[in-house]
Order: sequence, then C-alpha cells, then structure tokens
Amino acid sequence: EPVPSAEMDGFCRIFGVETEYGVAVTGVEKPVDAGQVAMTMFQPIVSRSRSTNTYLTNGSRLYLDVGSHPEYATAEARAPHEALAQDLAGERVMRGLALKAQTRLRETYGEHATVHVFKNNVDSAGHAFGCHENYLVRRFVPLEAVEHQLLPFLITRQLYTGAGRITPDGFQITQRADFLDEAISSATTRSRPMVNTRDEPHADPDAFRRLHVIIGDSNRSQWATWMKLVVTHLVLCVIEEAFRRGKPSGFEDWAFIDPASANRAVSRFLDAPDAALTLASGETVSALALQRRYFHAVALFVADHREAMDAAFAVSTSMMKHATDVATDSPTAVILGEWDRVLQALEAHDYEALADRVDWAAKRRVFEALRRRRPDVTAIQLEQLELDYHDVANGHLYDSLVSRGQLHQLMTRDEVERAVHEAPQDTRAALRGRFVEAALASGAQFSADWTHLTVTAPERREAILLDPFSAEATAEFEHLMAILGR
Ligand code: ATP
Ligand code: MG
Ligand code: MG
Repeated sequence: EPVPSAEMDGFCRIFGVETEYGVAVTGVEKPVDAGQVAMTMFQPIVSRSRSTNTYLTNGSRLYLDVGSHPEYATAEARAPHEALAQDLAGERVMRGLALKAQTRLRETYGEHATVHVFKNNVDSAGHAFGCHENYLVRRFVPLEAVEHQLLPFLITRQLYTGAGRITPDGFQITQRADFLDEAISSATTRSRPMVNTRDEPHADPDAFRRLHVIIGDSNRSQWATWMKLVVTHLVLCVIEEAFRRGKPSGFEDWAFIDPASANRAVSRFLDAPDAALTLASGETVSALALQRRYFHAVALFVADHREAMDAAFAVSTSMMKHATDVATDSPTAVILGEWDRVLQALEAHDYEALADRVDWAAKRRVFEALRRRRPDVTAIQLEQLELDYHDVANGHLYDSLVSRGQLHQLMTRDEVERAVHEAPQDTRAALRGRFVEAALASGAQFSADWTHLTVTAPERREAILLDPFSAEATAEFEHLMAILGR
C-alpha cells in the first residue's frame, strides 16, 4: 500500500522529455533504407541487451520501435535544467551510435556514406514524429482542466518554443501544427492529439498523473527546451493550487473553440501576427495577447508563492550566467524575466532579438541572410540547410551558430558529458542508473522499466520503485544489488 506522498504539497515536479529522431543516409554507392541504418545504429545495443529497448547507466531509456525513428526518453528529473542536460545527453548518445554505424556502413556502401540523425519532427516523406514532454501532475487536477486551462497555453507558447519549418506555403513557426488534429486523446497512433491522456502515471496512481504533452516541437536551442519546461511548470502550479484550494485559477474562460485551427493559426504567426482566435466564450484574442494574460496571471501567483516555488528547484549556475542579465538568486525571477523578454520582443515584432534563443527565429535569420547574399538560392538548398540545423550527427549549422556566439548555450560540454553517464541524483533514476551499471558490470541478465528493476538470471528478482521522487535505496533494491555483487 503506497503511503500518501509528501510531494502532494508544494510545487515540486518530475520532468521527462522523450525525443524521437529521424534517420537518413547520403553519399551511398547503392541504395540502403533508413530502417536498415537505424538497425545498424542499434547493433551495439542489441548485442548488449538482446533487445532494441534498453535503459542506460544515466537512467534514461533508449529504444527503437519498428521503422527508423530511434527514441531517447530522459530519466526523471526534478529540475528542468537537469532534464535539459539529460536530453542533450540523448543527442550525444545518438551521435555516437550514428558515427559508429557510419564507419560500418562505409565498408559496404562506400567511403562517402554519411549518416544523418535529425532532431526534428517531420521527415521528407511528410511523416510527423514527436517530442513528448512528461510532467508529474497531482491527480486532483481533472483532465478537463488540462484541456480547457492548459491547452491554450501550450498552443500559444509555441510563439517562442516552436522550431519552425519551411513548408510549401511559407515558413511556419512550428514543425507539427499541420499534423495535429485533436485536442486530447488517449491514442497517439490513429488520431493525433496535442495531449495524450493514456493513464500511465509511473507513480502512485491515487496521487499523481503523468501529463503527456505531444504538441511540442523538438528543440535544438537549449534555451527553448529549458523554457518550455519551466514555463509549463509555472502554469501547472497555478492550476494545481486552484484545485488544491477549490478556487478558480483564472484560466477558466481561455479555451479555444477550435484548438486545432488555433494551433495552425499560431504556426502561421509570421503571416498574420495579430490573427484573432476565438475562445469558447465567444471572445476573440491574438495568440500573443493570450500569452501575455498567462504571463500576468503567473507573475501575480508567483508574487504570492515565491518562497515555496523557489524551493521546488534551483536554477543551475550556468543558467544564471547566460539566461539573464540580472544577477538574482531566485529561479522564478529568472524564468519570469526570460518569459517577459521574449513576449516583449514578439510584441515589438523584433524577431531578430529572438534569434539567439528561439529555434524558428534562429533559422529564419539564417535563411534571410542567405537569400540576401544569394538571391538565386533554391528552395531545395534552403531545405537542406534546414535539415542540417537539425542533424545531431553530421550537421554543421547549429554548431557554427553556437561557436560564433549567435545561439545561447545554457549547458557546458562537461555538464552534458556528465549527464551521459550519470543519472539525476535526486530521483529514482539514480537507483536505476546504479542498477544498470552493476548489471552490465556483472554480466547478469536484466530488464527495467520506469517503475521496475529486474534481474532475470541467474536468479529472478525484482525491485519496485513506485515513488519517482525517492532516490533512497530500499531493502528490495539492496537485495538486487547484492545479487549483482555490490
Ligand atoms: P510513447 O509515448 O513512446 O509510447 P511513453 O510516453 O509511455 O511512450 P516513455 O517513452 O517510456 O513513455 O517515456 C516516459 C517518460 O516519462 C520519460 O521521460 C520518464 O522520465 C518520464 N516519467 C517517468 N515517470 C514519470 C512520472 N511519474 N511523472 C512524469 N514523468 C515521468
Ligand atoms: Mg516514448
Ligand atoms: Mg511518449
């Protein structure tokens, strides 16, 4: 019987980011399909784990379903910058697998074979794939509140978290808007919802939900990944506190009458920045004005709950240095400052000012500069440049923007490198990481999922980790470790 969780009170949260990647190969002397390239990438995983689904020593999950979209799901983190580090570790893992596969493929397909691993959301055949954010949310928040109070925020936050995409009818600020048609649903395959309601809390089901957000783009900008997590967290805090106290949140009347069409309109922001979106109440409002409303409501809320909210997580020191101009030790102040700044830039139509942190603006600046320099540049050349930006294996554009100081970095190389090997130390991921490391070292057969650690041979033994907040070793866990010789 799970005991009531201490984490029901307060504003702490668990964050996880799943990123699906697109795989392609160029420069080959004979045809090879992307599925085969992905399988070659996963060969080392299969020989280690006898499966294309595995957990790593940093507590994350690495897997390949059918097809050619490898996925990396970060270990549970309490702090958004920790989740960011884990997501960047995923980029590094994918890159390592891709470069190894490339060496192997060159033996058969020629010395110019080049493997590309795209952190984007639409492939050349027009199939969309995802980047899911996971938020632990208190169970007393009903799903209708997610749909009516959170979804309008998720749709309009894309103004600064969208990754942008060249489409046949112009540059859109998001990758996925044209591929999402339902507000919320429990299926991700048949329909394409913005929030998935499948009930898999990976925690005490009486206390928590796992909110599974589908609507976001994959981000290369570190700032954008961090920003989408922190701002969504703040909005969730307001909603949770309202239900905890039985009071209104203030977001009750902000639902869109047609979320999918509002989403498509937001994606076409550059064509019509002031487009009027209709709320279920009949009122019309622009996407940016609605973001401003959320900002004001959250700022007021934070003013009343600052101490408790700051206690939920710290902002890393590198974050303080880069994310803000003001020296301050309050995480919520840093977040609100960043949020206000991007909204101001959008309100002033000063998209250049966003190009060092917002993916769509960074890409747009590159494309426009190229068009000015080479008026005869073709659509295909622009699309190739765009793909290069998303390529974590062999891309150049993103790295060159960073090295020229044109894109903010929030994490040092060392912080990312550490996250490749080390799980967050303040969640159950720390235990999973220790377990995987010990199991690999001992050569035992093992399996895992988010709530279970299992040794299958020489002796079957399992430990259950139901509380994602707890990094404390249980007796069960210690027994497993003893079997593994630790
Ligand atoms: P898919 O969408 O690919 O079918 P999924 O969303 O069910 O899969 P995974 O790909 O395994 O699941 O990823 C789960 C994510 O949820 C991970 O990033 C993990 O860290 C995170 N997570 C695990 N437990 C919790 C929890 N209790 N609350 C919030 N997030 C969690
Ligand atoms: Mg997944
Ligand atoms: Mg998912």
